[in-house]
Amino acid sequence: MILLTNEEKVKRIKEWQECQMVHQLTCIMDNCDVILEPRIKDNGNYVILECPKCKYVQEHIPEFVYYFNCKKMEEQVKKLDWKIYKDEKDI
Ligand SMILES: [Zn+2]
Repeated sequence: MILLTNEEKVKRIKEWQECQMVHQLTCIMDNCDVILEPRIKDNGNYVILECPKCKYVQEHIPEFVYYFNCKKMEEQVKKLDWKIYKDEKDI
């Protein structure tokens, strides 16, 4: 279990939602599929995800979001040798 302030959680959720390397957490309502935004609940006790379009609220936030580091992910992907995906004639 990771111990973070609500402000730190919001920051890390935003980092995940803005990262181009992962699949964003999106609204599950039909025909919505908008990227959810983190909000600190009014009483300040916990963080939720809210859809800016239909106001759907998701209370469960997967913990891997808090461990994730987008910059590190990008660095690792850049190190990969993309030649493995090309046809032999292209090498
Ligand atoms: Zn929605």
